[in-house]
Amino acid sequence: MARFWLKLRAIPGWVWPLACGVVLLALPFLGLGYSATRQIELTLLLALIVVGLNLSLGYAGELAMGQVAMYAAGAYAAGMANKAGVTDIWIQILIGAAVALVVGLISGIPGLRLGSWSLAMTSFFLILIVPDVLSIFKEETGGRNGLAGLTPATSFGQLIDSRTYYLIIVGVAIVVFALIRNLVVSGHGTALRVLKQSPVLASSMGISVFRAKLTAYAMGAVPAGIAGALFANLDLFISPEAFAFSFAMTVLAASIFGGSASVYGALIGAAVLQFGMNQSTNFSKFGLIISGAFLLIGGVAFTGGLAGLMRKLLRKADFAAKAKAGIRAPKVAAGSVEKLDGALLRADGVSKAFGGNQALSKVSVEAKPGAVTAIIGPNGSGKTTLLNMISGFYRTDAGSIELDGQKIQGLPSYKVARAGVSRTFQTPNIPEKLTVLESVEAGRYASGRSSVLASVLRLPAFWRSRNDGREAAERALALVGLSEQRDEMADSLPLGNRRLLEVARSLAASPKVVLLDEVASGLDEDELEVLEGLIVRLRDAGMTVILVEHNFQLVLRLADDIYVLAQGAVMAHGTPDEIESNPRVMEEYLGVTAEANSAGGADDE
Ligand code: ADP
Ligand code: MG
Repeated sequence: MARFWLKLRAIPGWVWPLACGVVLLALPFLGLGYSATRQIELTLLLALIVVGLNLSLGYAGELAMGQVAMYAAGAYAAGMANKAGVTDIWIQILIGAAVALVVGLISGIPGLRLGSWSLAMTSFFLILIVPDVLSIFKEETGGRNGLAGLTPATSFGQLIDSRTYYLIIVGVAIVVFALIRNLVVSGHGTALRVLKQSPVLASSMGISVFRAKLTAYAMGAVPAGIAGALFANLDLFISPEAFAFSFAMTVLAASIFGGSASVYGALIGAAVLQFGMNQSTNFSKFGLIISGAFLLIGGVAFTGGLAGLMRKLLRKADFAAKAKAGIRAPKVAAGSVEKLDGALLRADGVSKAFGGNQALSKVSVEAKPGAVTAIIGPNGSGKTTLLNMISGFYRTDAGSIELDGQKIQGLPSYKVARAGVSRTFQTPNIPEKLTVLESVEAGRYASGRSSVLASVLRLPAFWRSRNDGREAAERALALVGLSEQRDEMADSLPLGNRRLLEVARSLAASPKVVLLDEVASGLDEDELEVLEGLIVRLRDAGMTVILVEHNFQLVLRLADDIYVLAQGAVMAHGTPDEIESNPRVMEEYLGVTAEANSAGGADDE
């Protein structure tokens, strides 16, 4: 039984939805009646709108309600093209998609630039003004009366009958869903999931938060535009009522109920709402209430929606089956570290004040390739702040930061990451709902991603980067000794493993410089040994390692060069021997650590 289940699960995941698509295509030939086919058509159109919303809401984490406005834009663009004599459905679809994309970009740029709730507000506003915009261009759009008398659509000069039109809708939906699925299971999809949970982590991994969110939002407009064009030619009539606020609520409810962080969840949610609404004869009266009820059920009863629930059950079944069949992930022995190209990192006279608090004053630090540069000092002495300055999270008040002679201060953090600076966090930053392997693969974004287009179309460049990324991630996991945990959920790991996971993630980026912020705290002795061995190998391979650490003995063993910070300034600098024989350091530094350790080693930021 367990074996059978695992065999079933070994079939690639895309086979099942594709099989459902083929069944949908076959239905009219099996004698499915008019009203059922129409329900399916409307479900698929709704699903196309919802899947666009899922890209921005479920993946990028932006509540954007504008999909209905883009649906309207697509419908009216196609309808007006039809009136102007363009009856070919494919051209109308292209026009609808393009116009929706433009609307998405225009509404997304200011909304996303301003951040937080702005996109929700601008996109909400976008829906409200649809009827007014249509009234202004009454001549072309028919205003409140709608756009009637469209010419039946053609395909390459052939008039389309209703069965063919059904096939076109199903076919287009299959293609669009396949492409969006390709996007979300690529590195770009993982990047969006990271970004939704932690923009700070995302930018430290080389992801441009603004660009990624805009891409998700604007790409979400395209299926809505396509659905609009298909809708206009379905009844050959469109009016503002079809794009009202209550419909936006239906879209949102379908997204939440089906599971917004899912592609197929859009189909499930759309089907539930479409068929649910159809059962209620008084829908026009109670539509909003029904949508609201689904929203509440989806939001309260199960976060992640129906798709999330299914995913959870599948994972459980997989785990049980694997345990029963006695299958465990192999423990991979760490291979050798090939030669690495480190870079010279130089901070010169860096100062930073937070309000009246001078966190750093004129700090100069130099970290060479093939060496471990340790930064030590009591809590609050500015160590993390210095790493944050290097990463580009804060702007310097004074001073410069250079990587191999290139100025990096003032660059946004994702560009610093792309320049080759990778890091771990004092409090491990591990996004939810990613496996250990996926989390490490996500670290490849800065150095090894393929373009969005290549990912969506599965061009050779995508496969190359995917295979490289997987290999690099497996290697990094082996280096930190986490191969056995590769399929576990990353956020369920204990603290020590989380720290090592962060190290693996930062190494997967093939960085020139790694910044390790108190990686050793919380590790047990075995883990400490793995970490120490790893740092030595990275150094010997030529990487630039900056180690912020409280464990003084570890620092003495590992460091080639030590900087001691006190109250935001470098109070001493030298080799481990020099630092150890510096009475002032020993008194101040060890005095404070002893105190901090007895107070429970508080090291929170
Ligand atoms: P360390 O890592 O050496 O323990 P930090 O760099 O975290 O020290 O902190 C140095 C000082 O800067 C502390 O006084 C801290 O309160 C302050 N600080 C750090 N980050 C911020 C921030 N984002 N806003 C205000 N103050 C901060
Ligand atoms: Mg710190």
